Amino acid sequence: MSFNATAAAAAQQLYANVDLSKVNWFEQQWAAWYLWIDNPIIATGLMSFLLHEIVYFGRCIPWIIIDALPYFQKWKLQPNKIPTPQEQWECTKQVLFSHFTIELPAIWLFHPMAESFGMQTYQVPFPSWQTMLPQIAIFFAFEDMFHYFAHQALHWGVLYKHIHKLHHKYSAPFGLAAEYAHPAEVFILGTGTIAGPMLYCYFTRNLHILTVYIWITLRLFQAIDAHSGYDFPWSLQHIVPFWSGAEHHDFHHMAFTNNYSTSFRWCDRLFGTDDKYREYRERVAAIPDASRNGRVRRM
Ligand SMILES: [Zn+2]
Ligand SMILES: [Zn+2]
Repeated sequence: MSFNATAAAAAQQLYANVDLSKVNWFEQQWAAWYLWIDNPIIATGLMSFLLHEIVYFGRCIPWIIIDALPYFQKWKLQPNKIPTPQEQWECTKQVLFSHFTIELPAIWLFHPMAESFGMQTYQVPFPSWQTMLPQIAIFFAFEDMFHYFAHQALHWGVLYKHIHKLHHKYSAPFGLAAEYAHPAEVFILGTGTIAGPMLYCYFTRNLHILTVYIWITLRLFQAIDAHSGYDFPWSLQHIVPFWSGAEHHDFHHMAFTNNYSTSFRWCDRLFGTDDKYREYRERVAAIPDASRNGRVRRM
């Protein structure tokens, strides 16, 4: 069968009930991707993998540039610990290694997994933003709570020693270090990101993978920014007070305790696992600017 005939047959199968001339440009491109790959399992798997790579490294690039420019140092949370290009490269190699050895072979599973939970993948048109917004909010809340308890468990004896210690190699983290972790940790904490959409979809049967992609993109931004090591006056936590941001997670890497959640400050506040962090903040705030000597920054 020629390519055109195959594509036409696939189009008939996937988009038999859709008039592709009536959907918007973005939806047409989406359908074109599925028709071009001509195999939904590879189309979903490859798109998921590429999205992760492009968003992850794309978001890290601005932080690499910021680390190279002395101008931004005044907003660095631990100003005496700027990552060297060598450190950043070592970290990049490790992250790429786990992406290509663990995640890439798993791309065969993404589409069957999504389908088994009743998630829409190739389908167009997309859901409206009014549908997507509350779903993404639920995924944020679920992940934050899941991560809070799982991360705290990873700080226990053997789990810390054999799994989580690797992520704590950098006491002053930088963007690229967000996914610098043991494969078991990637799996355990990744569950918080994926289980929310899966459970939601299982119970409601109303979720499109595009919504999950938007959620994952925002989650990657959150994780990379929280590891950036910078707290700018315009950082999100100064606008949304319950947002964690770098200032919150940087302390976790510096002190190896407290601040176990990801996006929000609620869980740590509620369960009292931010006591040392808040004491530290008060101590730093009490140091006069002149005697701080660039060692710590007022937060
Ligand atoms: Zn930790
Ligand atoms: Zn971290």
